[in-house]
Order: sequence, then structure tokens, then C-alpha cells
Amino acid sequence: MTAHRSIKSVGELVASGLVENAAGLEDVAARYAIGITPAIAALIDPNDPNDPIARQFLPTLAELVTTPDERADPIGDLTHSPVEGIVHRYPDRVLLKAVHVCPVYCRFCFRREMVGPQGLGTLTGPELDAAIGYIAAHEEIWEVILTGGDPLVLSPRRLREIMARLAGIDHVKIVRFHTRVPVVEPERVDAEMVAALKSSGKTTYLAVHANHPREFTAEARAAMGRLADGGVVLVSQSVLLAGVNDDVETLAALMMGFVENRVKPYYLHHPDLAPGTSHFRVSIEAGQALVTALRGRISGLAQPTYILDIPGGHGKAEIGASVISGGDGCFTIRDWQGTEHAYPPNS
Ligand code: SF4
Repeated sequence: MTAHRSIKSVGELVASGLVENAAGLEDVAARYAIGITPAIAALIDPNDPNDPIARQFLPTLAELVTTPDERADPIGDLTHSPVEGIVHRYPDRVLLKAVHVCPVYCRFCFRREMVGPQGLGTLTGPELDAAIGYIAAHEEIWEVILTGGDPLVLSPRRLREIMARLAGIDHVKIVRFHTRVPVVEPERVDAEMVAALKSSGKTTYLAVHANHPREFTAEARAAMGRLADGGVVLVSQSVLLAGVNDDVETLAALMMGFVENRVKPYYLHHPDLAPGTSHFRVSIEAGQALVTALRGRISGLAQPTYILDIPGGHGKAEIGASVISGGDGCFTIRDWQGTEHAYPPNS
């Protein structure tokens, strides 16, 4: 059945036909928000118990299982937050989290304890003033990354206001948006929205979050096209997820799909230790084997960087496995077929 507005409750999930047995799901919903847009509801195949789109968005009882190594703030945002809405983890860039709501709520979300109607909310006027003031006062900040929550839930008017304020800060050169909207609510990316993302004197990047090639519907492709035609530089972000994209065929199709839509593959995230997400996790060894296989399979243009956010707020580390040991000027490098080579060569 085609929904015309977003699904936000267990009752609406049942009414839509996407969920038959709702037993226990109210307990999940009480802790983690539910959000499924009409575009995503239409993509879910209710007849496939292993549908990779359903797996990303439909709540399940597995989310009630929290393992000892999971944490509410898995990548340590709060450790690096000098003022409300700012995360300043690396010297040259900050996250600006203006909103903590999203058009969809991904069941594996690394900020799932912060986003949603019961999450951290939207910055108030004075909080946004303080956040912009912090950026203005720190001349080392070259890049501002709008994330959240999904910044593209803001109206074009609000986005224009934020861009205009950032335009007044000379040392900020790059503004980057991280969003799921081009895929999950593509109709939102209209000409007014594209124009609002740009500002004179700044270069706008936008990281499109997608995890499965079926997310590239005709509407999503058109939305990415409008962004690229409008002068927004597009990069990708995906999460490696068990049962969604943890096989080389799916990952290859996903990365090639990005490139075909003028989105340069950027990050493939190892899943974070967010609460209630152990059913999505793959081992680092399995992830390394997948990215090694990708190297032999698809163009260099389509290769993502496999990345882990070190728990506790210590930043990102590349965890691709080409270099498997090293020292004393010699290294062992693994090629895409799994063969190991000494560098420099022994002979
Ligand atoms: S869109 Fe991003 S922030 Fe929102 S629920 Fe999904 S992963 Fe989390």
C-alpha cells in the first residue's frame, strides 16, 4: 500500500501493512524513534522477510538487547562539545548539529540516543547564536559540517539563514551537509532547497547517506542530479550492515550507483557500538575482506574508505587491510586477490 505521509508509530506501521506482529514493539518505540517516509515505505517488500530496506527502517525486538560494549554516545560527541550543538573533535573542523530530528529513523543509528522527538531537540535562537559565535571565534575552523539529526529537514529559509551567517565568517571555507534526504525524501530537494545550500565565498559539499543500491530510485537519482547540476559537490557515506550490504555484489552495486549519480564514494563506516544494534554488526575481518574484494572488482573511482570511529571520541581511523604488518622499513601488503607481498620486494 502506498503511504502519503510518514509513518511514526507502531499503530501506523500495522495499519500500513508493513508489520503484522507488533508484540513488544511499543517497548522499542518508547526508546528509539520510528520514522518511515512514503518513499521508503514504497521501497519495502513486505513479502521478503530479509528485505534489506525493511531491515534498516522497521523496528524489531532485537533492539531491546543491549550488549556490554555498546554505549549511548558511541563516538564520543559529548566529550568534544564546547557549546550546545557544536562538536569540535579535530582542530580544523566542527560539527554543527542544529536539529536532532530526521525524516527517517535508521535502526542502526549511531546517534539513536540523541535523535528523535525525545532527543536533544532543535537549537534555540540563543543556542544557535552561541554555536555560530564559537565558530566565528575559532579561526582554525576551515570546515563546518551540518549534521544532526538531518539538516535537510530544515526549511530552505532556515538553511539560507544559517548559510548567510556562515558566509560572514571569513576563515570558514567549506560547508558540508550530511543527509539521508536525497534518498528517503527526494521531493524535498527542489530548486529552492538546492539554492539554500549555497552561499557566496563558500564551497558546499553534501554527503549522501545510502546503504543499498535499491535506494537509488528514479526520484532519488533525480534529486542527486539536481544537487550536482546546482553546483553542490557530492560525496557518499554508507554503513556496513549485516543483512543489508555485507556482500561484495551489493557493496559494488552501491558504490557504482553512487558514481553513476555523480556522488564520489567517501566513507564506508564500520558500524558503531550504538545500543541495541548488535544484530547489524559485522567483524572488522569480514569488512576488510569485503573492501579488499571491492578493489579487484570495481573502478578506483568507486572505492570508499573503510573507516572506524574509535569508541570514546578519539576520531576516525582507516581500517582497510592492505597493509597487514610493517616495521624496519619493510611492509607486508595484501593485494585484491588476497596474496601477500613484501615491500620493498625481497628480490
Ligand atoms: S538519518 Fe542519520 S542521524 Fe537520522 S536516524 Fe538515520 S543515521 Fe541517524
